[in-house]
Amino acid sequence: MLVFILMTHYVCTGDCEAEESKAGVCMAAGCTKEGEPLVACTCEDGLHEKVLGDNALEENDE
Ligand SMILES: [Zn+2]
Ligand SMILES: [Zn+2]
Repeated sequence: MLVFILMTHYVCTGDCEAEESKAGVCMAAGCTKEGEPLVACTCEDGLHEKVLGDNALEENDE
């Protein structure tokens, strides 16, 4: 049987739609979110619907 492992990744919600394996900020020059923190996502389909499909959800970001 399959064991699901949620792979946390971090995506930029701006134009570049960057995906990183660790937390950080967007480094893409000209991106609408340049310099802003990447958002943690645990999707399994790579669509990041939870973070991209909606307006910014209120979450406690340290
Ligand atoms: Zn970006
Ligand atoms: Zn995702």
